[in-house]
Amino acid sequence: MFSKILIANRGEIALRVIRACKELGVQSVAVHSTADANAMHVRMADEAICIGPPASAASYLSFPAIISACTITGAEAVHPGYGFLAENAEFAQILEDHGITFIGPSAEHVRMMGDKITAKKTMLELGVPCVPGHEGGVDSANEAAAVAAEIGFPVIVKATGGGGGRGMRIAHSPEQIDSAYSTARSEALAAFGNDEVYIEKYIERPRHVEVQIIGDGKGKAVHLGERDCSLQRRHQKILEEAPGPSITPEMREDIGSRCAAAAAGIGYSGAGTIEFVFSDGEFYFIEMNTRLQVEHPVTEAVFSVDIVREQIRVAAGLPLSFSQSDLAIRGHAIEVRINAESLPDFRPCPGRVTAFHAPGGPGIRMDTPIYMGYEIPPWYDSMIGKVIVHASDRNSALAKLSQALDELIIDGIDHTVPLFQELVTNPDIKSGSYDVTWLERWLLGRFQ
Ligand code: ADP
Repeated sequence: MFSKILIANRGEIALRVIRACKELGVQSVAVHSTADANAMHVRMADEAICIGPPASAASYLSFPAIISACTITGAEAVHPGYGFLAENAEFAQILEDHGITFIGPSAEHVRMMGDKITAKKTMLELGVPCVPGHEGGVDSANEAAAVAAEIGFPVIVKATGGGGGRGMRIAHSPEQIDSAYSTARSEALAAFGNDEVYIEKYIERPRHVEVQIIGDGKGKAVHLGERDCSLQRRHQKILEEAPGPSITPEMREDIGSRCAAAAAGIGYSGAGTIEFVFSDGEFYFIEMNTRLQVEHPVTEAVFSVDIVREQIRVAAGLPLSFSQSDLAIRGHAIEVRINAESLPDFRPCPGRVTAFHAPGGPGIRMDTPIYMGYEIPPWYDSMIGKVIVHASDRNSALAKLSQALDELIIDGIDHTVPLFQELVTNPDIKSGSYDVTWLERWLLGRFQ
C-alpha cells in the first residue's frame, strides 16, 4: 500500500478521497489554489500545498504544479477525483514517466475511451451493444448529410472528445443537419480544442443507464450493477439512483456481465463506468468514463462497498477485495446534486454560506465541502454537495430523501434544494417513469 497520496482535486470529491486514505492508514496531501486556502479539503488532509492562482488552468489543471507538489511532499500516487485531470491521458502518462502512480486506469485506456469513436469501436468488438451509427469521424457538411440519411433521422452529432453534455446537437430532419453539424463542431472546438465529430442514431426519449465496473488490471473485473441517471438538464445529470427502476435482474446480469467481460478483456484497471442510453428493453453504449463518477455513492450504498478504497487498493497492486458472487444489491439508493445556483435559469450563485445544517439519521449521507461561514468561490463548478439516501425500497428512499431535504439548511446563497423538494412529490418521479428529456419539459412548464 502507498504511504502518501496526493489528491489533485477540490470540493466534496477531495474530501471523499481523504476519508478513504484515512481509513486505509495512508497519509493524504491536499492541493489548493489561492482561492481555496480556506477550503475544507485543505483542513482535512494531513498536509496541504498551494499550487497556484484561482484559475484552474494555472492550478488544478497545471501538470508542473501538481508534479512539483508530489516531489515536495513525497507523494507516491495521485488520485484525480473527477473532472480536472481525471480523464487526461497525457497527465496519466507524465505521472507514470515520473514514477508516480495515477490512481486510475493506464494512460492507454484513458486515451482509448476519451476518443468516443475509438471507444465505440472497441466496445463493439468486445460484444457491448452500441448506438447504431457511422463508424468514424465526419469531415464535411456534405458527408454529414449523407451519413445522417444512411442512419435515418433523427440523428445526433457528437464531439469525439466530448464531455459534460457539450458538443452535441440533434437533427430531426435533413433541413437540420447542416446547422447541427456546424454548431456541434464549433462548440467542440471551443470546449475541447478538438472539432472532430461523429454521427449516430438519436434514440428518442431513452433512459440513461450506466454500469459500474472495477478491474484489477490483470484480467479480472466485476460489475456493480447499474445506475439510472435519466433526470438531466442540458445532458447533465442532477439525480441518480440504483438500482435502475426499469432494469430487471435478468437485464442486469446480462449487461453487467458483458461490461465486466469487456473490462477484463482489455485488462482494465480501477473503476470505470460504461454508459448507455436504454430504450424498449435495449441498451446502446454511448461512452465509457475511465474514472470515479459523481454518482458513485448510490452504488456504494446498495452494494455496501467502498469504491474509492477499491480504486486505491487496485492502483497499489492489490487484488479486488470481492468477487462477483460476493456482490448483491440491498435496497434502493438515490442521490441529488445540490448546486449553488439561482432558479429558474440555474445561474451560478457563489457567495458566503451564513448558516448550514446537514441532514442526518439512518441511511442518509451528505458529502459536501461547505460549512457555516464558507465563501463559495466563483471560479469552479457550482456543485456544493450531494445528498444520498438508502432505504429498503424505492418508495422509502424517496420518503427519506424528502425528509432529508426538509432538514437541510443552507442559507446565504441560492441553491437547488427547493427544486428537488418539489420534484420528490411529482407523480412521474414517484413512479420512476421519466426519460432523459423529462426534466427539460417539466422545467419549461414550471417556470414559463
Ligand atoms: P457527455 O460525455 O458529454 O456526457 P454522453 O455521450 O455521455 O455525453 O451523453 C450525455 C447524454 O446525452 C446522455 O445521457 C443522453 O441523455 C444524451 N445522448 C447522448 N447520445 C445519445 C443518443 N444517441 N440518443 C439519445 N440521447 C443521447
